[in-house]
Amino acid sequence: MALVVQKYGGSSVENATRVKRVAERIVQTRKAGNDVVVVVSAMGDTTDELLDLAGEVSPQPDPRELDMLVTAGERISMSVLAMAINDLGYQARSFTGSQAGMLTTAAHGDARIVDVTPGRVQAALDEGYIVIVAGFQGVSPDTKDITSLGRGGSDVTAVAMAAALKADVCEIYSDVDGVYTADPRIVPDAQKLDDISFEEMLELAASGAKILYLRSVEYARRYGIPLHVRSSYSNKPGTIVSGNLEDIPMEQALISGVAHDRSEAKLTVTRVPDHPGAAAQIFEIIAEAEIDIDMIVQNVSTAGNGHTDISFTLPKTDGDKAVKQLRKKQEKVGFEKVIYDENVGKLSLVGAGMRSHPGVTATFCQALADADVNIEIISTSEIRISVVCRDSDLNTAVKAVHDAFELGGEEEAVVYAGTGR
Ligand code: ADP
Ligand code: ASP
Ligand code: MG
Repeated sequence: MALVVQKYGGSSVENATRVKRVAERIVQTRKAGNDVVVVVSAMGDTTDELLDLAGEVSPQPDPRELDMLVTAGERISMSVLAMAINDLGYQARSFTGSQAGMLTTAAHGDARIVDVTPGRVQAALDEGYIVIVAGFQGVSPDTKDITSLGRGGSDVTAVAMAAALKADVCEIYSDVDGVYTADPRIVPDAQKLDDISFEEMLELAASGAKILYLRSVEYARRYGIPLHVRSSYSNKPGTIVSGNLEDIPMEQALISGVAHDRSEAKLTVTRVPDHPGAAAQIFEIIAEAEIDIDMIVQNVSTAGNGHTDISFTLPKTDGDKAVKQLRKKQEKVGFEKVIYDENVGKLSLVGAGMRSHPGVTATFCQALADADVNIEIISTSEIRISVVCRDSDLNTAVKAVHDAFELGGEEEAVVYAGTGR
């Protein structure tokens, strides 16, 4: 008997009808002779709606209470899913993250898994139950409080459960047929990939491709768990995420995909004194505020000699904090001003093949030039090129780059559900 972990995202269980359809799929897997553990997300856009509600009640909700609120979404979906399975004549039992042994750090809103102790899950499996686990949540053994794992975190619940239970298969069900060469909501001729390496998937996820949550891919790579990404709306074969970069032949597909991200802003500190230590002071202020920065550029100040401008990108959610902290230390560091710009987007091109193809950057930049898209910041890794451009240019840029590398296919990509929120 194999042990299958299946994760169903919010768009797969957006209403009662869908919950029943998913219950049928789970029962089929069970009927085929497998033990099944299901990780489920909140129904549809429930998490966003709960966050909106909190925002209406309080401008800065208490993080502990916010986690109590948002984790309720998954409690609704897990229980109704269990009811639907029971009605099909199979026994199901649902567990919260805490009951399922998902132990995390105490960092509300962005907790990390520190251990998984799935004793109750294993016992229920041994008794013949189909087990449903609430995604996106855990409990801190230090504070005893309920935590959430960050947006999209049900993916990491699934991978962590699969690792802890030594599952044979970890399937991630969503509203598209797998991992595509670009977000099918933006690029209609994006092609589904049959497989992709962990490294490439990591770069895509880190660059904004939300089909998989970055930390779930990191976790899967660390524990060597292949991920099978597929649609809960079709029976198509999906995408297998597995294998390492070293195993990919150098001459393999140049590019695996294009990703985009609208969650970051650009911050520029102008007329920074051009001497050793000035950049260090700025980034220390940012680090002290516990803000993760992404791309950085430093260039000669337009305002004259002896000074530089430093720009970097950071999550929009940290924008206010960063501006406030920097302005506090303005005199000490000696810069002129802080310019904060939310109207930017990030575009990334990812591919293992670019390691051995020096022309990729030129083609990439030419495609953007031909589409009249101005590049504001560039950064690269071994298998990725990223640029920041105007937010209003981002969709055009994604399509232009996707076309320039001939990633499009004949078939139109299908998005079965979801609001893209
Ligand atoms: P779920 O609710 O199942 O977790 P998500 O909304 O988190 O689903 O992720 C699925 C969405 O990811 C798709 O609907 C699609 O718009 C988006 N997406 C972004 N980039 C990609 C990509 N490269 N391949 C497939 N989907 C992508
Ligand atoms: N419901 C959570 C969210 O919307 C977790 C998830 O869907 O993975 O972020
Ligand atoms: Mg998701």
